Amino acid sequence: MTPRTLRSQLALWYGGFVCAILLVFGGLLYGVLARNLYRGVDQKLLALAQVVAESSVRNFLRPGYNNFSQLLEDFFGVPAAGQFIRVLDPSGNVGSRSENLLRRNIPVSRATVGRALHGEMVYETYDKGGPPLRVLTYPVVVRGRVRNIVQVATSLAPAMEALQQVLWVLVVGSPAVLCLALLGGWLLAGRALKPLDQVVDALRSLDADTLSDRIPDGSGTEEVQDLSRNINALLARLSDAFRRVREFTADASHELRTPLTVLRGEAEVALRHPRTVEEYQAVLASALEEIHRMGRIVEDLLLLAKGDLGEIRIEKAPLELARFLDDLSSQASVLAEARGLAFTAAGGPPATVLADPLRLRQLFWNLLDNAVKYTPEGGAVYLSHARAGDGWIRVTVKDTGVGIPPEHQERIFERFYRVDKHRARAQGGSGLGLAICKWIVEAHGGRIEVRSTPGRGSSFLVYLPEAEPGRPE
Ligand code: ADP
Repeated sequence: MTPRTLRSQLALWYGGFVCAILLVFGGLLYGVLARNLYRGVDQKLLALAQVVAESSVRNFLRPGYNNFSQLLEDFFGVPAAGQFIRVLDPSGNVGSRSENLLRRNIPVSRATVGRALHGEMVYETYDKGGPPLRVLTYPVVVRGRVRNIVQVATSLAPAMEALQQVLWVLVVGSPAVLCLALLGGWLLAGRALKPLDQVVDALRSLDADTLSDRIPDGSGTEEVQDLSRNINALLARLSDAFRRVREFTADASHELRTPLTVLRGEAEVALRHPRTVEEYQAVLASALEEIHRMGRIVEDLLLLAKGDLGEIRIEKAPLELARFLDDLSSQASVLAEARGLAFTAAGGPPATVLADPLRLRQLFWNLLDNAVKYTPEGGAVYLSHARAGDGWIRVTVKDTGVGIPPEHQERIFERFYRVDKHRARAQGGSGLGLAICKWIVEAHGGRIEVRSTPGRGSSFLVYLPEAEPGRPE
């Protein structure tokens, strides 16, 4: 079962890692130590055998000689107790032997003697009756012939005891080290995760009303700071989105309330006294105007809401842009001239775009309508298109009207956003036109930009991807 907290998981990982290191290190240590100890025993036996062999040729051929202790003390300078030594003749009969072999008997193996007679040194471990012995059978070769066989042996008990002590330290010490590692891992993980806890605490206190608060991002490691920064960026986007939703709801209710107030006021005034037919007609005509206005707002809102939900299908088909804009120009010129404005359709190269003609018409009509609305009498409106490179076609709707101050330019594509609310409403605008334009352009894979100088006019640039000639869609 995996522990649920990151802290315990980290501590366990850490403990597991230390445990693996301990196992590998302990195994290696034990292996190398055992190898060196046993090798040391073998080397000692070889040195001893060589000394005895040297002497056996000269001194110990006499059967019954057993003063090995004196010999070894003479040679090594210290008493060499605990070594078993005997000299055999080529038939395997025991000649001289050290005193301790009188007490412990090591049987002579025929096979070993046979191998020694072929000039081979044989190491064996003998572990019957008492502590294990390491035995070296060493041939004494004189003038190419095996003259004697020297057998030296020593107890493996000291080496085994040393190894056992190391094993004991490892077996008892490892769990203790492991416990310390787990505790250390737990403490370290707690320390490392503390800044994360602070972030979580700060997040816990946030709700829809405190979205503008930010969590501190100055403390902790770089990763935690990065996390805090990213959370803050997310909070900023969320609080912006919340603000827009709130503004949108307020704006939408306000937009609908105004015509309703007008309707109610007119109806109440009309009903105060009996009126003539003409007066009632005038009231009804005004009411109808307000109803139209509300209807337009509701339809626009519905269109944007469905667009957001992806419920509107854009029926794209190849569209000859020059011809399409030509048709639009003739209607726009009527509109412009009625308002005392000059209208110029500058035209452009033949180009095809993949578009829904109804939506595209709505888009450019909104832009042309705005250009006419926000340009005082005597001004001019232009419509043109051109290639903008990288496969883009740019359609420009330009006017010499009131212009848009720079601080408003970014926001005019937001829903219900208007630079001058009173003037725009008086001109019949609801502030949804450009939001719809933006949605239509983006649904066609394009983008819309505005360039404007207050008092001198505005240009709306619509970029649409040009359809590749002959490309099937
Ligand atoms: P509206 O229905 O109010 O015209 P839009 O979404 O079409 O709403 O436009 C948003 C705001 O952008 C307008 O209220 C107006 O202030 C500004 N605007 C749009 N087009 C122009 C233009 N051609 N010249 C100056 N201002 C413009």
